[in-house]
Amino acid sequence: MAIIGIDLGTTNSLVAYFKEDHPIIIPNIYGESLTPSVVSVSEDGEVYVGRIAQERLISHPELTVSVFKRSMGSKKSYRLGSKTFTSEDLSALVIRKLKEDAEEFLGEEVDEAVISVPAYFNDTQRRATKTAGELAGLKTERIVNEPTAAAVAYGLHDEHDYTKYLVFDLGGGTFDVSILEKYNNVMEVRAVAGDNFLGGEDFTYVMMSWFIEHHNLDVEDLSYKEKSLLRKSAEDAKKALSNSRNVTVSCTINKQNYELLVTPDGYEKRCESLLGRLRNPIKRALSDASIKLQDIESVLLVGGATKMPLIRTFVSKLMGRFPSVAIDPDEVVAMGTAVHSAMKRRNKAITEIVLTDVCPYTLGTNISLRKPNGFHESGHFYPIIERNSVIPVSRSERLVTVYDNQDIINVEILQGESRKADDNVLLGELNVPIPEGKAGQEAIDVRYTYDINGILEVDITVISTGVSKTLILEKNPGILTEEEIAEKLAALKSLKVHPRDKDENRLLLAKAERLYEENIGEARMILSQEIVIFESLLDRQDEREIRDYAVRFSELLREIEDYME
Ligand code: AMP
Repeated sequence: MAIIGIDLGTTNSLVAYFKEDHPIIIPNIYGESLTPSVVSVSEDGEVYVGRIAQERLISHPELTVSVFKRSMGSKKSYRLGSKTFTSEDLSALVIRKLKEDAEEFLGEEVDEAVISVPAYFNDTQRRATKTAGELAGLKTERIVNEPTAAAVAYGLHDEHDYTKYLVFDLGGGTFDVSILEKYNNVMEVRAVAGDNFLGGEDFTYVMMSWFIEHHNLDVEDLSYKEKSLLRKSAEDAKKALSNSRNVTVSCTINKQNYELLVTPDGYEKRCESLLGRLRNPIKRALSDASIKLQDIESVLLVGGATKMPLIRTFVSKLMGRFPSVAIDPDEVVAMGTAVHSAMKRRNKAITEIVLTDVCPYTLGTNISLRKPNGFHESGHFYPIIERNSVIPVSRSERLVTVYDNQDIINVEILQGESRKADDNVLLGELNVPIPEGKAGQEAIDVRYTYDINGILEVDITVISTGVSKTLILEKNPGILTEEEIAEKLAALKSLKVHPRDKDENRLLLAKAERLYEENIGEARMILSQEIVIFESLLDRQDEREIRDYAVRFSELLREIEDYME
């Protein structure tokens, strides 16, 4: 039984497989790597997926649907003839097609898949994607972010030991920017930002609008079929501009043929406002990662729309360097999902790659703050795990009682970025009884632990009584079996240990203490300072900072040891 990687795109989807020591794209029955994410139903109820469906987009628009990934996770339904579908159902049909193509190509059954999603998909959208995979008959335990998958595909090709990447992913319907850092054998996502409603389709739309404006047409007067034809011609022209300077958009409307000659300059001008919208997510991702633009060593282009010369020029100017295009931007995400699938099955060839990811939203709780007039005001959001924290992650915060004789503390588990608790998403609640006393006298520790599969475990412990409660929130409820959850939680156990107690950190501190005792003078002073710094980092519980510092700290200890010999 094989495992495959799937890039479920807005316009096109791809399937890939990890063969021996490298990923390969599996072609569909037409020998093409891209399968259009389009579904069509015939009059007698037969379902078509891919290229045939794409053709029917024009001949049978009322029975065909595309770009449904944009409604993933929503209640929107699509009526095709006598049948009604959700975006999940339609995606399941696409995945099923990819699965069949893969089985045909590999000559064996496929039972599992790793599927990629835009980094900014929320939980509902991710859950819907997972359900689509399951509906297609595939175990779908791992959903990965598209830019992460892309960087992983590049990571395998990259010889540098230490690199900071910016992944610029402009697909059909989404834009994602990710900042990734690779050092030694670790690939880490430092920040993600993006726009779920900006993609290549919008650039096609600019071309269509230009045409409509030029000929003084009214979109409302166009039939569905005419609009589809115009869209196709506009998209062809947009693509053709990648290779030639003058291109024509043509379309027959109301039996009359219309044409528009487009030039790269004219088109670029009309795309200015779209280009402007690409800027903000880049700025935000860099600032969230605390990385300066000039520190980015490589810029990776992902997604079909990055083939447009105007995008490449824009990225080069903005980033001050030429982007990497060694892997086809259409295929790189799928390649990465195949690498992920091999990691999941623990393929020997790639076990040395350690992968970390980030938590896309801030997870926190609701607290009361004392106002200058002495009264408390509830409803303030208190972040515990900040967005873009590297996962798996475990953080603990101490909260105290607000009122005299308070006998219960209620912890709301919230997800979001708003300062106001009410504006964030309530994921769950936990409460514990506490002994009555003066305000501020009683305290609880609230620990959030978030793993790579989206399981959030919340533990609260009353300091004075030791009473504790736990709540496990699954990002994809009902899909994991109890055994799987138990297995994953067992893996989490080691994480929940305060870093101070972790073996490698304890070892470093013990060694430093020993060297302190064995030395005098300057070495002793340095050691004493470094021990204090390391201890304070351990208190802050930032795994990344600790790890970075530990590397330098152990080097220093080695130098002191060498000097003593
Ligand atoms: P994706 O979702 O990554 O498959 O991206 C599809 C988008 O890329 C669509 O909007 C396509 O029109 C666009 N695209 C694909 N190939 C090209 C090309 N050669 N030049 C310009 N845009 C392209």
